[in-house]
Amino acid sequence: MNPNLLQTPITYLKGVGPNRAQTLLSELGIQTYEDLLSLYPNRYIDKTRYYKITELERNSAEVQLIGKIVHLKTIEQKKGKRLVATFIDDTGEMELVWFRGQKWIKEQLQINVPYVIFGRTNWFNGTFSMPHPDMELLTDHEQGLRIAMQPIYPSTEKLSNKGITNRVLSNLMKQLFSETKGSFTETLSVQLLEDLKLISRSEALFNIHFPRDQHMLARAQFRLKFEELFYIQLQLISKKLLRKQKIKGFPFSEVGTYFNTFYKDHLPFELTGAQQKVVREIRADLGSNAQMNRLLQGDVGSGKTIVALMSMLLAIDNGFQSCLVAPTEILANQHFNGLKELLGAMDINIALLTGSVKKSDRKGIHEQLESGQLHILVGTHAVLEHKVQFHNLGLAIIDEQHRFGVAQRSKLWHKNDIPPHILVMTATPIPRTLAMSLYGDLDISVIDELPPGRKPVKTVHRFDANRLKVFRFLKDEIKKGRQVYVVYPLIQESQALDYKDLMDGYESMARDFPLPQYQISIVHGQMKSEDKDYEMNRFVKGETQIMVATTVIEVGVNIPNATVMIIESAERFGLSQLHQLRGRVGRGADQSYCILMTGQKLSAEAKTRLQTMVRTNDGFEIAEVDLKLRGPGDLMGTQQSGLLNLKIADIVKDNDILKTARYYAIQVLNEDPGLQFEKNKALRVMYARLLKHKNIWNYIS
Ligand code: ADP
Ligand code: MG
Repeated sequence: MNPNLLQTPITYLKGVGPNRAQTLLSELGIQTYEDLLSLYPNRYIDKTRYYKITELERNSAEVQLIGKIVHLKTIEQKKGKRLVATFIDDTGEMELVWFRGQKWIKEQLQINVPYVIFGRTNWFNGTFSMPHPDMELLTDHEQGLRIAMQPIYPSTEKLSNKGITNRVLSNLMKQLFSETKGSFTETLSVQLLEDLKLISRSEALFNIHFPRDQHMLARAQFRLKFEELFYIQLQLISKKLLRKQKIKGFPFSEVGTYFNTFYKDHLPFELTGAQQKVVREIRADLGSNAQMNRLLQGDVGSGKTIVALMSMLLAIDNGFQSCLVAPTEILANQHFNGLKELLGAMDINIALLTGSVKKSDRKGIHEQLESGQLHILVGTHAVLEHKVQFHNLGLAIIDEQHRFGVAQRSKLWHKNDIPPHILVMTATPIPRTLAMSLYGDLDISVIDELPPGRKPVKTVHRFDANRLKVFRFLKDEIKKGRQVYVVYPLIQESQALDYKDLMDGYESMARDFPLPQYQISIVHGQMKSEDKDYEMNRFVKGETQIMVATTVIEVGVNIPNATVMIIESAERFGLSQLHQLRGRVGRGADQSYCILMTGQKLSAEAKTRLQTMVRTNDGFEIAEVDLKLRGPGDLMGTQQSGLLNLKIADIVKDNDILKTARYYAIQVLNEDPGLQFEKNKALRVMYARLLKHKNIWNYIS
């Protein structure tokens, strides 16, 4: 086939005039034959299958059955009459219902004669019923012309108003297949087709629009999903290979005194196996000639900080500076203090740069950075500002990646001629499968083990009605000398209301936990930052036992003596936020608790979130559930990634196909990185086209 035929403007297709072309373009973005061809049906009406009544499921899909009517009656109700037929087959009984045209229908229907019926079923009062079924006598049905599976295309109001119905779309598609003879250039290599037993592109495209049966539909879907995901992976992986080849990093060949001294004399605890593994992975990266671009995932409290520090010591050993960037000032402060403590008496210059550092102090920091005197700069995004110039930045570490965009990450690249090594740390685990697609160009390390001696936080769900019991429990914990967080939601749109909830909650706590026996801190977003710090510090020092707060404490506080986390209106929080909040307790040796408070009324999704929290402490498991609940749309990075614009694959549901696609993309590129081999010609051509067309596959920065 002439490959350009698919680029033919859609107006050339018989049946498409200027008006239709206009509507197709504005409603569905269809300009060419190819665009129309890749308008895949949303679903199909399956007329290949005859269901038995006992096989029906409560999913209200369209089904087709064979059986007969044994009884007919009219039921009178306030709302009007309806005609009800009892319909049976050899497995059971159901009802057919008519609300309109009853007289005529009653005259037509034959009792005890086999019919084929088709329609949606409802489940009501223990029986299935089908309102206004399509009916055909079995004898007619057997003689008639039947289409197997009818495609149902995406529709919009405007499309149907302009007369572009499903039937019209489906006819246009038939016309397209007839004009092109349905033969389309293959885009996968023979080897892939054989290895995976895939059907050809032409067969797949035909069967996605006009499936011969369920089996062929499944094969067509698999082939097209595989292709879509395969080319994404091919692009990600080849970018990664290219980066490893072309982008020289600074080789940190020395493991020198700083690293070794720290390891011998200053390490406050033994590293966990997972930490050791990750340090080894990072060392291997830093020692090679290529730039490191690594994502470090580890649940809250898994000990990422020490890994970051040891990486920075390697940089210093090799004469380079490093920076550690955090998303909030509190967190930057905490890192700064934490690192200073870990470094103890070691002779290392470290400074903190945030928005609230005074101008005069800033000047000193800038000078020391530029002269190279300063080894480590900790800070907020202030570090990324253009005027912050390093003498030689060798390693940049970014904590809590999800708050940084790709654009900010890339700012770091421009601090040098040669880009620094980059380590991105995140405590919000991204499901592995998604990470693979989103960050396919990054290497990934995982700390999947908590430091020893941690007792998993016990999580329970309690209704507001049981508040008094919860308070009694709190009093017991406080008696033991422990501290308690009480967290209220803060959601942008309803700030005023949330603020009221918080203040009401605070007052009710103050009544039940009276002075002077109990001291309560309060922290929320509307307070001045000095006041926040003051209240925070009272809690840190143990002067107050209860901290009432909005989610501002989500990141950044580490108080091992706090053992109870109460989350108010827990149904309003997302799963990852709940998990982050829970991570604030369980940091010391004592048993910790997380209590999720809610009202009685809960949506199904909220119930799932709460149950998940109660069931598991595993951040990865939680992330998987979260992804299934919300879809990838809300996850960081997905917006710009184009993963939501997939035509046929679903990043969550088609997980296995994604893994297969990735596996084969790696195989192909390992053998033939430039796709130069003759047998990979189809891949080379398609890949080049995708690059040229700057389409959705072109997303990774
Ligand atoms: P996160 O991964 O959340 O950043 P941190 O690095 O803040 O975790 O570590 C959490 C706590 O665990 C800190 O108090 C840290 O000192 C401690 N910690 C980290 N690694 C270990 C270890 N191997 N053994 C004991 N305690 C550890
Ligand atoms: Mg941390």
